[in-house]
Amino acid sequence: MATDDPELADIHLTDVPRLAGGLGAVTSTARFLRRESGLGRGAKALLAMNQPSGFDCPGCAWPEPAHPARLEFCENGAKAIAEEATTRRATPELFAARSVDELRALSDFELGQLGRITEPMVLRAGDRHYRPIAWDEAFALAAAELRAAGPGASAFYTSGRTSNEAAFLYQLVARWFGSPHLPDCANLCHESSGVALAETIGVGKGTVQLDDFAEADLILVIGQNPGTNHPRMLSTLREAAQRGATIVAVNPLREPGLVRFSHPQKPLDVLRGGVALAREHVAVRIGGDQAFLQGVAKAVLERDAIDHAFVAEHTTGLDAYRAHVAALDWRELEVQAGVPEATMRALADRYVAAERVIACWAMGLTQHPHAVAMIQEISNLMLLRGNIGKPGAGLCPVRGHSNVQGDRTMGITARPKAGFLDALDRDFGEAGFVAPRGDGLDTVDTLRAMRAGRITALVALGGNLVSATPDTDVTAAALDGCRFTLSIATKVNRTHLHPGATALLLPCLGRTEVDAQAGGPQFVTVEDSMSVVHRSQGVLQPISEHLRSEPAIVCGLGRALLGDVLPWDALVGDYDGIRALIARTIPGFTDFNTRVREPHGFVLRNAARERDFSGSGGHARFTVGHAPDLRLPPGRLRMMTIRSHDQYNTTVYGLDDRYRGIKGERRVVLMSSADMVALGLVERQVVDLISEFDGAERRVTRFIVVPYDIPPGNCATYFPEANPLIPLESVAAKSNTPTSKSVVVRVVPTEA
Ligand code: SF4
Repeated sequence: MATDDPELADIHLTDVPRLAGGLGAVTSTARFLRRESGLGRGAKALLAMNQPSGFDCPGCAWPEPAHPARLEFCENGAKAIAEEATTRRATPELFAARSVDELRALSDFELGQLGRITEPMVLRAGDRHYRPIAWDEAFALAAAELRAAGPGASAFYTSGRTSNEAAFLYQLVARWFGSPHLPDCANLCHESSGVALAETIGVGKGTVQLDDFAEADLILVIGQNPGTNHPRMLSTLREAAQRGATIVAVNPLREPGLVRFSHPQKPLDVLRGGVALAREHVAVRIGGDQAFLQGVAKAVLERDAIDHAFVAEHTTGLDAYRAHVAALDWRELEVQAGVPEATMRALADRYVAAERVIACWAMGLTQHPHAVAMIQEISNLMLLRGNIGKPGAGLCPVRGHSNVQGDRTMGITARPKAGFLDALDRDFGEAGFVAPRGDGLDTVDTLRAMRAGRITALVALGGNLVSATPDTDVTAAALDGCRFTLSIATKVNRTHLHPGATALLLPCLGRTEVDAQAGGPQFVTVEDSMSVVHRSQGVLQPISEHLRSEPAIVCGLGRALLGDVLPWDALVGDYDGIRALIARTIPGFTDFNTRVREPHGFVLRNAARERDFSGSGGHARFTVGHAPDLRLPPGRLRMMTIRSHDQYNTTVYGLDDRYRGIKGERRVVLMSSADMVALGLVERQVVDLISEFDGAERRVTRFIVVPYDIPPGNCATYFPEANPLIPLESVAAKSNTPTSKSVVVRVVPTEA
């Protein structure tokens, strides 16, 4: 059992493996199934995962191929369903025996081990134990509390696991109630990508399809660790590498999943030691990607190696951009990027030699103060040679949550477009709906308003706000100060242990479970990173008869809060009714119920993919971004939070990180040997980390020093353990995304 005293922890350090996947993935998968769901139940789920007639993995949003393999899942997808299909149960007896305060003492891993919540639970004012409650009483209580708080003081949070059907109804209920406050997990992850791309190409989504990877000459993987966070992407990269495409990884960390991959289902791979992926790894400094990309562009522009026809026809702003880049000093670019001029020129050579280029990225770019400008540097570089809107080329932000993109498409946003609100008024006005106008609060602003007492009621459709957001102590206190919180969840997490004065915990069906309604078994839909909308239907018997589906819970809340403004029972009885509403209101979903029954669903149109840049004023835009000065005062490091390989977002599957050679502990700080010497620290030393922001300091204690291959001046820790160091006020410009990848810290020995 893990302890909070790392001196007692059984940390074990090994060499970093030279490849990802392999037999290790197979044994790890089997171990998790045995520990959680049992091999039988687990195997049944795995055989249905990511299959046309099965369910969509509740993990990341990497798409399924047109012809999925019989076993179409990765190790971390298997962990995700093992967790969901677990035989452990968080029953009323557990909550009766353990108070909220006692449960708070558990680590995030131990909380996950409590199992699936089996019945709706209520925490009444003055009580510290959750108690069972009947569904209808729960909905009535929720409605009364929300009305008492008022729509202006009520926020409706959404996690990216929520299906399209539940998300569409949820935003409708919140807005019908009068609340514009729809924070979601995208605010914490790819919001910066959405903002950046909407400005430059007119669409806040990636332009690439899976088939493009079969034609690309060069694939850039920037600020992304697919080996852990999008593992099936390694299969796609493996095929591209075998076909002769060049892969270049740009990342402070040389992650095994970027270097070499042994496909567990390819015996030859296992025998031969896998397939080499990245031909080159560029170890930029944390946040140095903008300067690096400007250096690459500078070398390309010096050779005037641009697609003049494309630039002339489809873009605007090149002159200002060219002048800006030309004026940049190579020495300064080297300092800010953390790599030599020659490395930037080398990539420029590869880039110019390639006809078709795909650029992929993830959190390593989106969670910095200059994240939006950094992502626009990718867009700039790709526009120079027309690598948008042609086969084998394009922009590919890889989403980390299975339906985070779909939720946004369904209207889950604090900043809705006027056209969308007009459509809601048009389609639901007769029934009394009036869309609240103006922007609402996103996740960071909701927490700030909660801290200030302006938001006093929170409904959370999935998610784990306390562990997913920065400034953990501030977030926890803000939640504790609410009059009412309602969480719809499958398992107990830390957010449920910071309830409002009155709180509800409502257990929903998992993605793996059969959703039986009056109209028979129902399917839901999701949208992956590449805008493919497809079905998902569970195959396992629900773990409890008391569970309800997300759409059913939202309808129950809607009826209690709004009355019979919609045919709630009919919508729950047959989700085709919900999809008919979506088809009427959301562009691109015409004939939704017919098209989604096609074997692989359908692809939503992406205008930029057709070189239609009407969304950005008719042209794709070059932007002029000023890379920040990343130099730090002596004795400071720039810290980024990362996931371990035994983790999915805030869900902690175990205490090991086999891709980084760490076993048995999560309170670790990965730093270079050079920095350890400079700071007088040694391997396994117990240290505190202190962040500095705006004159304020935040501290986390008793972390263990782990020497690691990371550029000096930088260090890495896991979230949520290091989240207390990240200031709520430190956000990315324009996107308001927390800067979890850019925190200035001191690392000091823990005082005895
Ligand atoms: S790659 Fe992502 S979506 Fe696919 S199985 Fe793994 S976690 Fe699930």
